[in-house]
Amino acid sequence: MVNLRARTPVFCILPSDWAYNVFVCEALIVLLLVQLCMSVCDSQPLTKFSAERKQMVEEQLVAPGRDIKNQRVLDAMATVPRHEFVPNALERFAYVDGPVPIGYGQTISQPFIVAFMTEQLDPKPTDRVLEIGTGSGYQAAVLSRLVAEVYTIEIIEPLARRAEADLKRLGYNNVKVHAGDGYQGWPEHAPFDAIIVTCAPDHIPQPLVEQLRDGRRMVIPVGALENQQLYLLQKHGTKVEQQAVLPVRFVPMTRGP
Ligand code: SAH
Repeated sequence: MVNLRARTPVFCILPSDWAYNVFVCEALIVLLLVQLCMSVCDSQPLTKFSAERKQMVEEQLVAPGRDIKNQRVLDAMATVPRHEFVPNALERFAYVDGPVPIGYGQTISQPFIVAFMTEQLDPKPTDRVLEIGTGSGYQAAVLSRLVAEVYTIEIIEPLARRAEADLKRLGYNNVKVHAGDGYQGWPEHAPFDAIIVTCAPDHIPQPLVEQLRDGRRMVIPVGALENQQLYLLQKHGTKVEQQAVLPVRFVPMTRGP
């Protein structure tokens, strides 16, 4: 015979059973505290979504056909909390294999594109890098783990300010954000050891070529939306060697007033 009383849920105990009630209340309080503690731990940028981040690296970056090999780049992609750079409502899409809207008609690039462009730059720990098109600040955060200093320019002022605040909040202290037209580069801090452009002009901006250190690399998408190529440029004195490395689809580089 099944003893129903023994199986009765704790919420249905008789009110007269005070000692038992006190015990249950204590147990509930402990349970709530544990849950609170777990949600606090969960809200930490680095522990939250760590499984999704690991999966992103394995399935979208290392997998055959993707072939990202640079271990420092893979480590940075496995560490930087991408979900912190997308709007809260879209957090759960942060690690999908594609771009995600970030407001103002702009997107955070697909993880593979971020990793691919970063690998093409061949970043060194002592490098000072210029990025054009800050957007969410995610690409700058990834770079900041790999080089000494990152300078990044965003033409949409509120995006620049938001990225700056997010980068600061998350402790990426070696990134400087400027609101303005990146076509002109950032001459005050030139020459740069690497330049990465994450919006597409219809030609390679000469000021950026001039601000690239001799012998170093620039990655830049060029062309109209439907017909864009990512170019890897290497500067050799007055000559620029250029190679199309991937068909891509970036938002156009817009120009300032
Ligand atoms: N690297 C970004 C994504 C770039 S989206 C990230 O990690 O999230 C492209 C960005 O380039 C957009 O935010 C757009 O506003 C910006 N942009 C377009 N034209 C620009 C210009 N002339 N100078 C600087 N930024 C520009």
